[in-house]
Amino acid sequence: MPYKVTLIPGDGVGPELADVAKECIDATGVQVDWEIQPAGSEAHEKFGTPLPPETVESVRRNKVALKGPITTPVGTGFRSVNVALRQELGLYACLRPCKTYAGVKTYFPSVDLVVVRENTEDLYAGIEFQEGTDACREIIDSVSRLAKKKIRPDSGVSIKPISVSGTRRIVQFAFDYARANRRRKVTAVHKANIMKFSDGLFLRTARAVAQENPDIEFEDRIVDNMCMQLVQKPELYDVLVLPNLYGDIISDLCAGLVGGLGVAPGANFGDDGAVFEAVHGSAPKYKGLNKVNPAALILSGALMLDHLGEKQAAKNLENAVAAVIREGRYVTYDLKPRRDDPAAVGTREMGNAIIRKLQGVE
Ligand code: NAD
Repeated sequence: MPYKVTLIPGDGVGPELADVAKECIDATGVQVDWEIQPAGSEAHEKFGTPLPPETVESVRRNKVALKGPITTPVGTGFRSVNVALRQELGLYACLRPCKTYAGVKTYFPSVDLVVVRENTEDLYAGIEFQEGTDACREIIDSVSRLAKKKIRPDSGVSIKPISVSGTRRIVQFAFDYARANRRRKVTAVHKANIMKFSDGLFLRTARAVAQENPDIEFEDRIVDNMCMQLVQKPELYDVLVLPNLYGDIISDLCAGLVGGLGVAPGANFGDDGAVFEAVHGSAPKYKGLNKVNPAALILSGALMLDHLGEKQAAKNLENAVAAVIREGRYVTYDLKPRRDDPAAVGTREMGNAIIRKLQGVE
């Protein structure tokens, strides 16, 4: 029986990357019945919404999706499809493996980290009060009264909720992931020394969950110290689990450690499904130019195969990508020593080289 998977090509460079990623996944020999569904700017023009309900329904039904990047217009236009999809599908865990591949230019040759980011709470919960509004004045008055602290009347306010249940769920996810992937340690990252009732709760809850998972080592780090340690000795770390905002920042730091966006895959998990996507965005200026690196989306596809239980195919796909990068011949501009190297190939040609590796032709 083929696996039914929703494929959301997205917009910008998304469709050309999705085409290549799909073909690479097919070349592993795993039978996938792709259900192609629109989202993003073209869907907006065609259907009047950037996230048609059929697209969400398809992911709900199939429980697995591979997704290209989607543009979020600044200031005007539709709200972020990525955020909407996460909310609609309850995708509470964002997973970003960051691994150095030989052949990628980086100062850090042996990084192999996994960042697990909580995706629903914290300063990203979207609870904000605009400066000067009645609601904001009311919040400022209430806070002054309840916390006995003065907030300047010309302030805007963003609220940072972190719950015991949300923290339990994400920390347990990190332990489950560590166990399933033979990882040895989970590090919880926080600023509990300053924010005692949000980050403090996160740390306290993480410690309690760690006690229920004694087979895996646990430690914690304060986020500023974590940043310094990651750029000094990243090899000491394994699985990191973080609240939403720190997770956002640290996952980009870790993508930088391993050579940038072209090789950074990702996945979002919820109780009812999983969406696999590259860390990078829709790079609109390269749309249709057959230029950008397909590796991040193909490696996201390898994470998807692993999630489906196709462990060997996942490994084969990752190895094929790693071999093409290591050889450095059929790689896109971003993986060349100089970005204007005329020997750089396009998205499609790099994908074809990966397919040839999978087929054992080269
Ligand atoms: P971006 O990741 O799209 O591009 C930034 C730069 O990184 C590009 O100009 C390019 O130089 C490089 N780059 C990105 N992907 C690459 C690849 N595969 N190969 C080689 N080089 C690559 O970031 P941005 O410009 O900040 O965002 C563009 C749009 O994408 C925005 O609308 C943003 O909201 C959206 N976005 C979407 C997602 C998503 O769909 N998950 C994620 C991030 C950003």
